[in-house]
Amino acid sequence: MIRTETDPEPVVTIVGGGVHGVHLAVRLLQAELVDPCELCVIDPAGLLESFRRKCRQCGMVEFRSPFVHHVDTDPFSLRDFARAQSREDELVSSTVGADRPTVSLFFDHAAWLCDQHDLESIRFDARVTDITDRRDGVEIETNRGHINSQWCLLAVGHGRSFTYPEWATDLASTEPVTHVWDPGFDPDAIEEMSTVGIVGGGITAAQLATTLAQPGRDVVLFARSPFRVETLEASTDWMHFSGGIEALHGHPPGSRAREELVSDVRYDGTMPPYVFRRVQRALERRWIELERSEIAVATEAGGTVVVTCRDDSAFCLDNLICATGFGSPYDGSLFHHLRKQPTLQTGYRGAPVLDDDTLRWMRQDGTPSRIAVSGVAAQQVLGPFARNVIGARRAGKLIVGFLESELNAEKQTTKL
Ligand SMILES: Cc1cc2nc3c(=O)[nH]c(=O)nc-3n(C[C@H](O)[C@H](O)[C@H](O)COP(=O)(O)OP(=O)(O)OC[C@H]3O[C@@H](n4cnc5c(N)ncnc54)[C@H](O)[C@@H]3O)c2cc1C
Repeated sequence: MIRTETDPEPVVTIVGGGVHGVHLAVRLLQAELVDPCELCVIDPAGLLESFRRKCRQCGMVEFRSPFVHHVDTDPFSLRDFARAQSREDELVSSTVGADRPTVSLFFDHAAWLCDQHDLESIRFDARVTDITDRRDGVEIETNRGHINSQWCLLAVGHGRSFTYPEWATDLASTEPVTHVWDPGFDPDAIEEMSTVGIVGGGITAAQLATTLAQPGRDVVLFARSPFRVETLEASTDWMHFSGGIEALHGHPPGSRAREELVSDVRYDGTMPPYVFRRVQRALERRWIELERSEIAVATEAGGTVVVTCRDDSAFCLDNLICATGFGSPYDGSLFHHLRKQPTLQTGYRGAPVLDDDTLRWMRQDGTPSRIAVSGVAAQQVLGPFARNVIGARRAGKLIVGFLESELNAEKQTTKL
């Protein structure tokens, strides 16, 4: 069953049912802070569906993060689930750090957890278009009506914001040129006997290239810089939310300094050793061709795209897929609307100004609003792992921590 517009007003509304939204819902229910009928998760794509689609689109087989990172609160929940299902072989050993779950194990465990808490019954199948912060609650506008809630937790990920290289902007909507994160991109729809170009040199481009490489298909990987190998997305100090976090919080909230520090310490554009080995093998066997030069010009020609690189080499491709990353976390359409709210404080490049202890979005008058943020948009507080699964757990702790005191205080006031 899915929640409808006529159900009672929720106490807490979570916008986004991805890793972060699901974890917040599970944590709130496990802490018994709200009854299921007082909680609502709004997502038009389905619980975890957007992330599942991305993993499929880039051909990801295993997680980069260890098995203790998942959407439940108990770190060993996924391992116990694997044991109970006799699927320990889906915990893939790693040369550095703990074993990593396969994509299917991760999502089966997450689906099991959603079933345990019957999260589908509290999902409202709608897209949030705007949120208004009021002193005593929030008003949430959706494409299927209006919801009033006491608290709103924003967990919308990158919100469909991804980047194309400059030379591709005019071609982005033409048939042969697409982005790996375009919701319409389907790797299975690519013709078997075709010539495919992939742009990018990080984990996504590498995984996609090795997935698409097959007999009869020519795959060209356009990676302008040498491959860089890193096990995780940043140093493990950041993953433990120690060390660097203090330095981050030493800069003003919402500032350029915080944004630049996060971007400097993230190992963007890297790939872990197991992906690098796969690329190396595919290159050695000539399943993939590597073009080290940058594309300078691309022109559509009768359903194909002709690209010319800076080293003057030219290719005629049936498909050109950009694996060139996400856009700014503050550029999704919902954040655009929220930025225009006169009451909420925004900082450098539209970053929400959040309270470091609670992740509550601060108002212009310096008081915390009733909107809290989890996910990549909280990176100025939680650092480079804010977007990751472990970031969801850290954000969950902070958000559920403050909600516990607020909701208990409200209950006491009602009793008086
Ligand atoms: C291919 C890939 C592999 C990754 N691998 C790992 C890994 O191994 N380990 C790790 O820790 N992290 C990994 N990450 C990073 C991170 O864990 C994921 O990006 C994760 O999906 C982030 O969760 P999220 O909930 O913030 O965002 P999302 O999964 O994007 O979920 C956001 C949800 O919000 C919904 N939404 C957006 N806008 C609205 C709106 N206006 N109204 C209502 N709903 C809305 C969307 O439909 C979506 O379901 C990976 C990321 C990618 C892309």
